[in-house]
Amino acid sequence: MVSKRIVLHFPHRLVNQPIVYKLVEEYDLQFNILKAFVTPEEEGLMVLELGGKRENFDKGVEYLQSCGVKIQPLSHDVVRNETKCTNCGVCVPICPTEAFVVDKKTRKVIFNDKKCIACELCIKICPPRAMEVHF
Ligand code: SF4
Ligand code: SF4
Repeated sequence: MVSKRIVLHFPHRLVNQPIVYKLVEEYDLQFNILKAFVTPEEEGLMVLELGGKRENFDKGVEYLQSCGVKIQPLSHDVVRNETKCTNCGVCVPICPTEAFVVDKKTRKVIFNDKKCIACELCIKICPPRAMEVHF
């Protein structure tokens, strides 16, 4: 048996398709959706725990990839380089899990890494490239 937490990136055309349910029907996998949302670019994003027999798990992952779903293991951390962050606030509205909040008193942007699901949206948009992926 295997159980992994993974992030699925769905292209726009697949957002309303019941792809994940096929994992149950055809590959006898169990899943638990931890987060699901549509990003501003209208890409679907889902964080789920997926488990089952190793052979079925691998086939299920192959099926997802053949449909055009990008799969990212939740095995890396997103961290902020505090010396680079300028507290510009660009990352605050983009983060789907509200991992960034502006401190009302100091106006500084606080990063709560416990909320981060490593979707990497902030990596691309942070102007001084303060958000980094650590494997
Ligand atoms: S976008 Fe980058 S520089 Fe701006 S507040 Fe967020 S982490 Fe800091
Ligand atoms: S990677 Fe960035 S945008 Fe994505 S959840 Fe983590 S902090 Fe938010």
